[in-house]
Amino acid sequence: MGMSGFEYAPAPESRAVVDLDPSYGLFIGGEFTDGTGSAFKSISPATEEVLAEVHEASAADVDRAVAAARHAYERVWRDMPGRDRGKYLFRIARLIQERSRELAVLESLDNGKPIREARDVDLPLVAAHFFYYAGWADKLAYAGHGTQPLGVAGQIIPWNFPLLMLAWKIAPALACGNTVVLKPAETTPLTALLFAQICQQAELPPGVVNIVTGAGATGRALVEHPGVDKIAFTGSTEVGRSIARAVAGTPKRVTLELGGKAANIVFDDAPIDQAVEGVVNGIFFNQGHVCCAGSRLLVQEPVYDEVLASLKRRLATLRVGDPLDKNTDIGAINSAEQLARIRELSDIGEAEGAERWSPPCELPDRGFWFPPTLFTGVSQSHRIAREEIFGPVLSILTFRTPAEAVEKANNTPYGLSAGVWTEKGSRMLWMADRLRAGVVWANTFNRFDPTSPFGGYKESGYGREGGRHGLGAYLR
Ligand code: NAD
Repeated sequence: MGMSGFEYAPAPESRAVVDLDPSYGLFIGGEFTDGTGSAFKSISPATEEVLAEVHEASAADVDRAVAAARHAYERVWRDMPGRDRGKYLFRIARLIQERSRELAVLESLDNGKPIREARDVDLPLVAAHFFYYAGWADKLAYAGHGTQPLGVAGQIIPWNFPLLMLAWKIAPALACGNTVVLKPAETTPLTALLFAQICQQAELPPGVVNIVTGAGATGRALVEHPGVDKIAFTGSTEVGRSIARAVAGTPKRVTLELGGKAANIVFDDAPIDQAVEGVVNGIFFNQGHVCCAGSRLLVQEPVYDEVLASLKRRLATLRVGDPLDKNTDIGAINSAEQLARIRELSDIGEAEGAERWSPPCELPDRGFWFPPTLFTGVSQSHRIAREEIFGPVLSILTFRTPAEAVEKANNTPYGLSAGVWTEKGSRMLWMADRLRAGVVWANTFNRFDPTSPFGGYKESGYGREGGRHGLGAYLR
């Protein structure tokens, strides 16, 4: 779907490398077993084709998975020397690298993200995360968080980075000596099930990792299970709140990584071309399905016209379409529900008086698609400036002084990330001191590294994942 006035030859990645079963059971105690609940289908959001059928784990299935995790914790994993746990994690990391093409293609199929991103961003980071925490497994005494694991961790993840969120959850938990029951999101369960096969291939002791597929009810059963010692959740603020309520007054530990509404702040001395690239990456990477997406652009008034013109030029060159095409920049929206949410909030933006713009863009007939979209004339009270859209939609506001930029950037219930674009180092530090955000990127955006902690202020959640800090969530 070339938008730039000339056509490219398609360059599709072969999907022959992925060998899908028609139906998958639950991964409990090292084996795939049938669930007692009903089955549901995982589809490709780009074509609506059914990829495979998976089981919806019932409360009884969750109970079996927690029992398997408890057994493995007490009999094998808790007391295994850290260097041996590390060997398993290194083995898993290497298998992920060996099978990364297969994993990337499957991630792109099931999630709708461009293969270029799955291949060049998600998979290298997934492997890096396992390598990084493998290295910590025998050095916990030096991390400053104690050395005792918590026990069985229940982990619930969203659909935007299915494998990467799995890695963020499983790698530190296992390195610290915990065992896990992980529930992937209902629309993207398939790479977690392929990861289960990798655990088998790595001869990880049965029960150390258990994967239960299902939707909210399965997640709820995991949260409420009395045999779970810790809940780690990434997803919406609304579900995060209900989890915090459910575990209040129990001994369960909890970490929550929730939504965001990040500001990307461009000063008039910024290198405009680089800033525009960073703004585009900040909101259109992964179709904007990113909790730390730079969904609010704050531009200093003197460069507003220049930045807007440059952004529009750049958007007109983005290619929307087949996620498996190696030239695709923006893939499919993950589900019909998410597409409906993006449409609704965008329509509200227009109704509230903001001006909407998208480049001319032909969208495929089947599947779930939304064009890259800008809103100008946005005021702070507009819902598009306050609520997380979780899609390829950017709201543009202006400011005059650094103090005003800080005030506007912080005027949100969230606080996950921010980006600052300026030539002045002193201004960068001044801004970083005042922005209430877990991560502040300087002249870049959406940079991730397993050694760096990630997490939020306010309604973006609590706890940190990644780095030495991330070990604290799994040790007592
Ligand atoms: P969600 O919070 O409903 O789902 C996240 C995970 O929680 C999924 O695995 C889901 O099955 C599970 N879940 C749902 N209800 C549960 C419950 N009551 N108890 C336990 N687990 C439960 O998020 P969503 O529906 O996928 O997306 C809704 C909105 O959340 C998005 O529009 C976006 O704004 C936000 N979101 C944020 C992130 C993030 O990384 N911070 C990720 C995905 C979605």
